[in-house]
Amino acid sequence: MTPDINPISKPDFMPVEELRAMQLAKLQKLIPYEYERVPLFRRRCDEKGVKPRDLVTLKDLAKFPFMKKTDLRDEYPYGLTAAPMREINRFHCSSGTTGKPICIPQTKNDVKIWTDGVARCMAMYGITADDVVQVSYGYGLFTGGLGAHYGAEELGCAVLPTGAGNTEKQIMLMKDLGVTAICCTPSYFLHLATVAEQLGVDFRRDTKLKHGVFGAEPWTDEIRAKIEAISGITAHDIYGLTEIAGPGVAGNCEFCHGMHVWEDHFYPEIIDPDTLEVLPDGEEGELVFTTLDRVGTPMVRYRTRDLSRLQVEQCKCGRTMRVMDRVHARTDDMLIIHGVNVFPSQIEACLMKVPEIAPHYMIELSSTETMDLFELKVEVTAETFSDSVAAMETIRKRVAASIKEIVGLSPKIYLVAPGTLPRSQGKIKRVIDNRRK
Ligand code: ADP
Ligand code: ZN
Repeated sequence: MTPDINPISKPDFMPVEELRAMQLAKLQKLIPYEYERVPLFRRRCDEKGVKPRDLVTLKDLAKFPFMKKTDLRDEYPYGLTAAPMREINRFHCSSGTTGKPICIPQTKNDVKIWTDGVARCMAMYGITADDVVQVSYGYGLFTGGLGAHYGAEELGCAVLPTGAGNTEKQIMLMKDLGVTAICCTPSYFLHLATVAEQLGVDFRRDTKLKHGVFGAEPWTDEIRAKIEAISGITAHDIYGLTEIAGPGVAGNCEFCHGMHVWEDHFYPEIIDPDTLEVLPDGEEGELVFTTLDRVGTPMVRYRTRDLSRLQVEQCKCGRTMRVMDRVHARTDDMLIIHGVNVFPSQIEACLMKVPEIAPHYMIELSSTETMDLFELKVEVTAETFSDSVAAMETIRKRVAASIKEIVGLSPKIYLVAPGTLPRSQGKIKRVIDNRRK
């Protein structure tokens, strides 16, 4: 079934054989280009004894070396840049593993490819030129703001570039200008919703908001359901990373539980993070991307550290581009507490099962001489918050039971008053790990 599609979405439905042939042709151009222009890549290929001409089929990509965030740090700022400065048009930066950021110079066409990814996500969500799109992602070095901005403009939308922060003004503009779609992190939207409530603004009654384009951080199905319930909008997932483009590498359609990857631009692989072997579709592992079109800072087999899976089943929407699972964890975000592996998203899912709990929490880890201490601060909703010790204790026990059941741990839980935990205008930090390293 091919829905009534926006012309911008046409590549999404490309026949699979055509897509694979296109990917191979692009890789056969990219690998020699990278080998010729990026000394680190050439050195690694030589060490492995692999030559660009060894790429004969798509499977042969597995013979080539990986790139990692530490490579971007070590080669900072221009070591991985493959195009001359004359062709560079834009810089974006993201956090590195140490003090220096990682830096991605891009050409005009690189930005165009990225824009195409965002615009195709938005078209897939049902956003059109009739929409008024508020971009509340941060602008600047972070890819969220400009990425969403360019994508929405490409679709012909009316774009309101509020950027992050100044929440009350954002709500006023949203109302007054008839904003129909908002782009921001899911945690910032929750903050917006709280402020709107304090101002007496009801999204359903007082705004025309229909779509939320949420990404840049992991968020659970439970948070998604909560967002949709409090605001009446449809919450769409958008995935990406600065090293590969920015947001718009993948997004969800109305059918898939996951996100279609724009494979004509970004070639995905899933590897076992320990053995580094490529895993077949259907198996979970670390997501690896190769940029098929980028010439400013091409990435060959970039290890994202994000855990996902490429689904085997074809999506009902008719798009041929593979669906990756939503990202809930990174290979480097797993906590081990009392010997148990814990992902913050699991804790979040437990909390959201208790209706009296607001979606704001903080995991704090510390240690004594002999053991780890696991503390959890959780906000209760404004309606529930009271001075009654007995009432609060009942809720606290329900939270404890939920965590015990799913995670198997018994953290020390503190219920705190609404609005007391830190809020973020960008990515939220929900884990403070002060344990001995
Ligand atoms: P972005 O601007 O897209 O956040 P960054 O380079 O700052 O790009 O961060 C990229 C990382 O953010 C990803 O590797 C992933 O861990 C996380 N991320 C981005 N989008 C999503 C999403 N929709 N769901 C889960 N995690 C996401
Ligand atoms: Zn689909």
